Amino acid sequence: MAGIGRLTGTVKNYDWGGTRFIPKLLGEKQESSTPEAEFWLGVHPQADCTVSGPDIEPVLLRDYVAQDPVARLGAKVNADFGNVPYLLKALDVKNMLSIQVHPNKKAAVIDFEKEEATGLPLSDPKRNYKDRNHKPELMVAMGEFWLLHGFKPEDKLRATLDSVSELNFLAPVFAEGSYKGVYAYVMELPQEEVSARLRVLLDRIIPLYKAGKLEKSSEDFWAARAALTFSETDRGIFSVYLFNVVRTDKGQAVFQDAGIPHAYLEGWNVEIMASSDNVLRGGLTNKHVDVPELLKHVVCEPTEPELLSGVRKGKEIIYKTPAPDFELSGFELEAGDEVKINPVTTEVFLLIDGEAELVAGNASVKLHAGEPSGVIFPGQEVTLRASGKSLIYKASVPA
Ligand SMILES: [Zn+2]
Repeated sequence: MAGIGRLTGTVKNYDWGGTRFIPKLLGEKQESSTPEAEFWLGVHPQADCTVSGPDIEPVLLRDYVAQDPVARLGAKVNADFGNVPYLLKALDVKNMLSIQVHPNKKAAVIDFEKEEATGLPLSDPKRNYKDRNHKPELMVAMGEFWLLHGFKPEDKLRATLDSVSELNFLAPVFAEGSYKGVYAYVMELPQEEVSARLRVLLDRIIPLYKAGKLEKSSEDFWAARAALTFSETDRGIFSVYLFNVVRTDKGQAVFQDAGIPHAYLEGWNVEIMASSDNVLRGGLTNKHVDVPELLKHVVCEPTEPELLSGVRKGKEIIYKTPAPDFELSGFELEAGDEVKINPVTTEVFLLIDGEAELVAGNASVKLHAGEPSGVIFPGQEVTLRASGKSLIYKASVPA
């Protein structure tokens, strides 16, 4: 029997989403009238992805995997994870997202159990931990993409706090020592002082933003936009200046491990992560911010942003990370190109551009705008064949 199928994904209509990228993947000729923020492919409880194929009656992917986990996940992934360990997404970030951090695996287990014991329901907006898993993430830009990623290196942070007059009050806090010190100071400052200090900053930068005089490489641009998007008293606006403002171009990737504070600002990407929903927020949000829990998990260290271009192996570009839960690779194919794949586990494909086909024996599944996603299972060699210039991503686990 053929170990291939078509996969349908789940669209998430979060209000920060854009209206073009995901409709384009799904073959819509026009922009959507509501925001389409994320497209999910996986077995996460909030992703109702259906597999169907030459030998597969339509069924939820998680149920199909559960019917025969050893065969469909492979013995090793079944033993290590017991399910598809990753979640693959496409994101259209039109309005900036909250600053967030994800716990490491050990902390996630402890803190989930602790929160369970309080009896706070999983659906409560104040709930921090939704599962026992960590959530390392890797994103590949599908064009110019902007994000906040980790604390600035020491000399850069010092220069920012010295040169932005409204932030001079933080310079002595940072000079006395640590990243933890300055971050905790900002996050714990009384709201009245936050509002007063932001008022002075925003009175200067919002007019510049509105006049189109700020570059996206400037923290002022994103701070002003954050104030207009969320609230002019949101203390997360200070963090814009503490973190690296990073620009990635098409095909460049960024890995965010546990504890690295980050926020997606603008652009389209393909993202893979461990299947988890554990998010601690640090501002730029209207949602719940739990400062003590946040401070527990933020790795308060300088970060030199690393842009990954991937490792080329034939026509495959593999984005290596330390995460055992996932491996993302990209294929840039020309018409007629073929790639042989021996799946190590349940592997998911997402076609961004062009037209291609997954072929196993006599069976095949076509990937194109409208039906961009497919899935293959271990036990049989699969050929990925392009019928036009194509860009395709594959989610798997490190072999
Ligand atoms: Zn994240």
